This record gives sequence, structure tokens and C-alpha cells, in this order.
Amino acid sequence: MNIEDYGFTPRRPEVIDSSMLKDFINCPSYFYLRHILGLRRKFLRGEGEAKFDWGTCWHHVMKAWTTNYDLTEALLELDEKYPEYITPFTDKKKRSKERMIHALFGYVDKFGKSDQRDYEILRSEQFFDVYDEDVDLRWCGRIDDIRRRRGNKNIVVWDYKTSSSMGSTYFDMHELGFQFPGYVWAGDHMFAGETVLEIKVDVMYMITASHEYFRRTFRYPPPRTDEWVRNVKWWLERLWILIDSALTDPSKWGLNWNYCTNYGKCDFFPVHSATPQGRSRLAILQDSYVVDYWDPREMGETDA
Ligand code: SF4
Repeated sequence: MNIEDYGFTPRRPEVIDSSMLKDFINCPSYFYLRHILGLRRKFLRGEGEAKFDWGTCWHHVMKAWTTNYDLTEALLELDEKYPEYITPFTDKKKRSKERMIHALFGYVDKFGKSDQRDYEILRSEQFFDVYDEDVDLRWCGRIDDIRRRRGNKNIVVWDYKTSSSMGSTYFDMHELGFQFPGYVWAGDHMFAGETVLEIKVDVMYMITASHEYFRRTFRYPPPRTDEWVRNVKWWLERLWILIDSALTDPSKWGLNWNYCTNYGKCDFFPVHSATPQGRSRLAILQDSYVVDYWDPREMGETDA
């Protein structure tokens, strides 16, 4: 099968980031549809899009806050970037602009004073595209901010997340995911002559009735990042072979049926639950999906 014969334009990705690699491992076919064809389900306002836009707005607010630890700047940014369509009347989680303002005050109240005392901000929203020729690995992504501890002068990378569901393994999942060790590895390469070992994550956990904050620290000394490099390369090798050999043929990409309903229904569930007969699946893709490529260089929420 050649998907180009049906009006789709497969695209070879320039770079792979942790979010894309995770998609490939979860389901090769998902990776194909999302990152080779660039398809995204058409959202109805107030559904999945709200979760993404809410997280993206929170990242903008955190960026404004961490630029100078300036609450007024953060509030102005929130006022400008808040997606006005997310209101308690449209959103099941009852998210609203007022709730985000409240959440910002809560965050500053909890961490503001000690963060200003303990950390100097070095970079906010740092895109990286690092190639290490010794291990022949290129890796890219976007670190939310990078700070220097005023006490021991160590550099710490920082990540912000928003979530409305945190199971007991939420932090374990991130500790052994591709994202965090990759940020530490990239941070270490960006600051030549210094050693970067640590990442902190701040999670804003919001449910219908309340919100809370969690902060965790993870350390990745060289034996751990070495293992991360080996593992990432192992997966990337398989991914690039598939990209090079089956760019135009979706039928060559495996379907991981164990993942279809793992965290609710996969966005492509309507496609793969249809009988593969004639043009049934192609028609669903054409009617219910839009081309909107994930770009790791753009600001947004990854691996939320
Ligand atoms: S519905 Fe299942 S098989 Fe299809 S892309 Fe999603 S996870 Fe993969």
C-alpha cells in the first residue's frame, strides 16, 4: 500500500524527542499516524484540547514567573494567554481563569520565597538540539527552565507538569521515562565544564474540587545517563529503520492492541476499531482528523 495514493503526505521527521519515542514504543502505528502523517483528532471544544491548552497556558505562566520571579508579569501573561473557552460550563474538570489565578497564587505561596532565596534562574524555556559524536546520539527537546543553586552552585534542570490524574506510580513512570534523564543529559552537554545531575519536577494536580502541588527531585549520575543513552539508541535504531523502509506504507507499522485503551481510548481508536475493509479506515482518517504535526521546538506540554 502507498498512502500517497490516497491523498496523504507522509513526512520523515527531522528529529525525534522523548514524546515521539514514547509514542513509538507504545504503538508503532500510533507513531506513524501522529508523526509521519501528522494527524490529530479534530477536537470538539471542551474535550481533549482543553487539557492541552490548559497545560500550555500554565507553562507560559511559569515561564513569566521564572524570568524574574515577578508575580505581576506572571499574572499579565496568564491574562493574555488563558484560553477563554475553558470555563466551568464547558469543562468537566471545572477549570477556569479564576482557578488558574488561584493556582498561581498557591504555587508562589508554596515555593516562591524559598526558590528566590535558593535558585538563580539561568534559562527559561530552553530548546535544545544536542549531538554527541562520541556516542553518536542526537536528541532534542525543550527544558522548562534551568537554575543554579545559590549554595553549592550546582545546576538543576526543571520541569512543570499539570495533571488531573496521578496514580501511585506517577513519579516512577517519569523517573524511568525517556524525558527526565534526557533533560539531564542535554543540560550536562549545554553547560560544558560543569556537571548536571539533577532534575526537579513541579506538578500542579487539579481535580474538580481542589488543587495541590507536588515537587520531586531525581538524580541521574553518569551510569544512569549512560544506560539511558544505550536504551534510547536501541529504540531509535529500530525506529529509523522503519521510517526508512516503510515511510509510505502504514500496514508495515505494528498495532499494539494492548495500548488501545490503556489511558482511556487512544485518539486513533475509531480508526483501528473499524473493520479494515475497502476504504473504511481511510475515510475515518480523512473525516475526523486534521494535519497538525507535533513540533518539539514549540512550547507546550510534553508527556503530561
Ligand atoms: S488504537 Fe490501538 S492500534 Fe490504533 S494507534 Fe491507537 S494504540 Fe495503536
